[in-house]
Amino acid sequence: MKVVKDSRGPLVEARGIWKRYEGVVALRDVSLRAAPGEVTVIAGPSGSGKSTLLRILAGLEDPDSGDVLFNGVSVARDPPWARNTVMLSQRPILLPHLTVRENLVLAAEARGAPRGEARELAEEVARRLGITGLLDRKPGTLSGGQLQRASLATVLAARPRVLLLDEPFAHLDLPLRESFRRLVRGLAHSESITVIQVTHDQDEALEVADSLAILVNGRVLEERDPQSTYYDPGSIETAVFLGHNVACSPPLSPRKGVPVTFPPEAVSLGEGPLDGVVTYVAARKHHTLVYIDLDGVEVKAVLAGVRGVRVGARVKFAVDRGMVKEWPGVSECGVSLYE
Ligand code: ADP
Ligand code: MG
Repeated sequence: MKVVKDSRGPLVEARGIWKRYEGVVALRDVSLRAAPGEVTVIAGPSGSGKSTLLRILAGLEDPDSGDVLFNGVSVARDPPWARNTVMLSQRPILLPHLTVRENLVLAAEARGAPRGEARELAEEVARRLGITGLLDRKPGTLSGGQLQRASLATVLAARPRVLLLDEPFAHLDLPLRESFRRLVRGLAHSESITVIQVTHDQDEALEVADSLAILVNGRVLEERDPQSTYYDPGSIETAVFLGHNVACSPPLSPRKGVPVTFPPEAVSLGEGPLDGVVTYVAARKHHTLVYIDLDGVEVKAVLAGVRGVRVGARVKFAVDRGMVKEWPGVSECGVSLYE
């Protein structure tokens, strides 16, 4: 797509960003790097400051202190249009009285494309996103999924170098969400746009991130590749956010008061030195989570496929020590992801 081919996205950096609202510190000394041609995901529980950070990167809001740099140059004084960033959230951005085509053309013209080129661009983006059939419809006649596809097309017609996504697909059904994830990843990689995507959904974060930043209570806890973040979390909060087990007493922990964390796939059911009682079974599409009570500690195990393990059954299990992380510096077991 020639839409953005001629302009590689910049390296986007946040440095030491602080943001306070009345009574709330939304961001505390946040630093972040997002490279062109990659999807950088900012993941964290709701209220952790994700949208605030994205608005600051977009130039829609000013930080109290700290800086935003594009390719090493401060853009703190540049408005959104000068940064060539576009942001897409759950709110559709199409003007209701115009057709999808007119919206696309307008977006392209607003960023300086001459009329003829803007029309061409609109066609091209529409083809790319599979919405050619919707071009002459008004937004009010579209379904939620069609509306978000058209919104994304409008955003791309503006030829952004930086694409900021604030959970724009969160309310769509899973197959649509999954197709959008692939689409956005493909765009980042093939067009070398700098994509920064916010999500509270751990699965989405792990799926789309080339680089994963974990934001909890206004702090970036770490920013790394998703696989090492998952298997070697840098903090107990990251482990909890990613759904790992937490235990604070033997036999899982080396001694009382030293928390340990381990992912559900570290637990193998059927044999082993430990035994407990199944308290809950959550069958998901491709796997089943089995919750086991081990003397008051809840341990979550994962089995491939959909399994009808019986609640109340006594089961033997083992934990792969190689996947267990100890947190000797952490004094208490109760980890809160919300302040
Ligand atoms: P997230 O997107 O991760 O859910 P937000 O960035 O929306 O988090 O919010 C972070 C914190 O800042 C929350 O406590 C929220 O209530 C607060 N906040 C966000 N925007 C405003 C605002 N305009 N005025 C006051 N408080 C705000
Ligand atoms: Mg938000």
